[in-house]
Amino acid sequence: MGQRRLGAVLAVVPPPVTVRVPSKINVHLSVGDLRDDGFHELTTVFQALSLTDEVTVAVAEEPGVEVYGEGERSVPTDGTNLAWRAVEALAAHVGKSDPKVRVVLRKGIPVAGGMAGGSADAAGTLVALTALWKLEIGRDELAEVAAKLGSDVPFALYGGTALGTGRGEQLVPVLSRHTFHWVLALDEGGLSTPRVYRELDRLREAGKPPRVGSHAPVVEALASGDPRQLALLLGNDLQAAAVSLRPGLRRTLRAGVNAGALAGTVSGSGPTCAFLCTDAQSALEVAAELAGAGVCRTVRVAHGPAPGARFVSGDDVH
Ligand code: ATP
Repeated sequence: MGQRRLGAVLAVVPPPVTVRVPSKINVHLSVGDLRDDGFHELTTVFQALSLTDEVTVAVAEEPGVEVYGEGERSVPTDGTNLAWRAVEALAAHVGKSDPKVRVVLRKGIPVAGGMAGGSADAAGTLVALTALWKLEIGRDELAEVAAKLGSDVPFALYGGTALGTGRGEQLVPVLSRHTFHWVLALDEGGLSTPRVYRELDRLREAGKPPRVGSHAPVVEALASGDPRQLALLLGNDLQAAAVSLRPGLRRTLRAGVNAGALAGTVSGSGPTCAFLCTDAQSALEVAAELAGAGVCRTVRVAHGPAPGARFVSGDDVH
């Protein structure tokens, strides 16, 4: 009898759900002028990378967020964590009050590194909750909830390679043939994205920092799958502002190319620098040399395009 009751209790508590979610780099980021609403119009080409976070959601009596791994101490565990905001946004969307959920984040993506780690966690939380709460909700509906959380959140749902416009949240998939190999140089501490945009506005008021060209050749290079062609076209309007705030990045960018990368760029608002390499072997060599050059905190090797937020099966979890 007692055992039967225990069985009934176990049956109604769903098992935890784990989702792996990619980081992103912007292989092209064109920032328009400051709009009246305080935002900038963007045209960007995102690529999702194999450097990932893992998000586990579980039913819990004590709701909240736990954070482990890369930069864990600088991530809030209160209601301002983007993953928790995702819990609240999805609960509101489906009419669930007082969600009793615990979210565990295992971070591999550098915090405030310009690789959209917080957005990734929000996207991972949305996908994980659809399974935990057994919601009949497609990715496109989820993307609408995601866009309200932040302009990089929808891309983390889909992954791959995409052209983003508006504030970066209006996405069209871009064909990317073959795999591109990247080395990431992680810096000490992060850079605040709003601060980098303000610095760009300041630089633009003071003079005319060069602007990246059209995204069309970048899209062609991705379709060709030729890293040499893509390397010539990497461009980011935020780079000048990130370097202005963190002058040491100039040295990092030079060191990556000296180590054998085809080209380097600041990722998003920085300070992470991303280096495109000819192949997987070259990426390992560049990473080893860059690690020894003393220009960054640590290095990672990654490839793209990587898939968007996806469930991790039991055997896969580590
Ligand atoms: P983006 O490129 O989207 O502007 P980023 O990669 O530069 O973002 P994030 O890692 O997303 O930066 O973090 C930015 C700030 O957001 C952090 O400094 C942190 O205080 C806060 N934050 C809130 N939730 C999270 C989260 N789940 N992971 C990381 N940071 C978070």
